[in-house]
Amino acid sequence: MTPSFPPLREELRGIEPYGAPQLSLEQAPVQLNVNENPYGPSAEAAADIARAVGEAAVSLNRYPDREFVELRARLAAYLCSSGGAGITPDMVWAANGSNEVMLQLLQAFGGPGRVALSFAPTYSMYPEYARDTHTTWETGHRAEDFSLDLDAARRLVEDRRPAVVLLPSPNNPTGTALPPEAVAMLCEAAASYEPGGIVVVDEAYGEFRRAGTPSALELLGEHRNLVVTRTMSKAFALAGARLGYLAADPAICDAIRVVRLPYHLSAVTQATALAALRHATELLGRVDDLRVERDATVVWLREQGLDVAESDANFVLFGRFADRHAVWQGLLDRGVLIRETGPDGWLRVSVGTGDEMAAFRQALTDVIKEQG
Ligand SMILES: *Cc1c(COP(=O)(O)O)cnc(C)c1O
Repeated sequence: MTPSFPPLREELRGIEPYGAPQLSLEQAPVQLNVNENPYGPSAEAAADIARAVGEAAVSLNRYPDREFVELRARLAAYLCSSGGAGITPDMVWAANGSNEVMLQLLQAFGGPGRVALSFAPTYSMYPEYARDTHTTWETGHRAEDFSLDLDAARRLVEDRRPAVVLLPSPNNPTGTALPPEAVAMLCEAAASYEPGGIVVVDEAYGEFRRAGTPSALELLGEHRNLVVTRTMSKAFALAGARLGYLAADPAICDAIRVVRLPYHLSAVTQATALAALRHATELLGRVDDLRVERDATVVWLREQGLDVAESDANFVLFGRFADRHAVWQGLLDRGVLIRETGPDGWLRVSVGTGDEMAAFRQALTDVIKEQG
């Protein structure tokens, strides 16, 4: 018998790597599929980042600061100005994207015999962190309008006793934000058994939330098992730099240090993130425009007679289509790339520039007319 090659772990065989199609700008001039900020850094910010990276380059023979002390201090200051209060550098941890931060959380707090729990529809990477850390993956379900039934959610946590609860807020792919009561209740539920679970509120889209929607950062002082993750990939317009971070009790940050790879944040990454944080106001400067564009997109889609989920993020989930793939393909044929994701029949569009959204509206109008 010939052994199979490569000798991959049984449960990984035949699995497609995660990722939306990455097409060139020639293939798809309007790219509204991975929730990026469509506005790049200004020439001034880009020059400052280049200067900082240039300075770091001089000592690239040395390993970077393993504890990234300066970056943690700057991120803590940013969080204090963005919905958090009293967040200190020892409450902050960072890695190469918040995906890596959450994988590290599962490495430290998940594992064989432990459960990670979320509520579907939810972010499609979570089950992969669970798989890769041999953590049992379980999901409850969201209501018809994608909100959480709090009593049912609490009962599920008390019953399944997860080591990690993963709550994206605003949720991807639906855009739904969680009320603080929900987060507080689930933190209490996850603290009610031994050894207890951590509750991770993934605020990758936190900066896009609508006025009056609080951040879970406000609850950090009250729940020591609460972790709030953020990223520079979305509102911060820095997806290419790969920098995600969390705020939590210092004991949680300390625990992650056991599983992180040595020097996981390169000197180049640290220099880039620090320079970007100096330009935070400017990099985040288009967030308000994107929120206006998002709200207008929701209104327009509803005017077309479509179902549209309320959104606190920089994307909108809409449907329902008997053949969503045909609609997705029809848009792509017209140069507009969106995402075929979410429950059956729904599609997700990221919020782009005014011109990009006009192209999206025109293309969707044509596709709906054509497909009747
Ligand atoms: C985009 C996204 C992230 C951020 O990923 P990075 O690794 O920081 O780029 C995290 N969570 C959700 C739900 C997302 O959609």
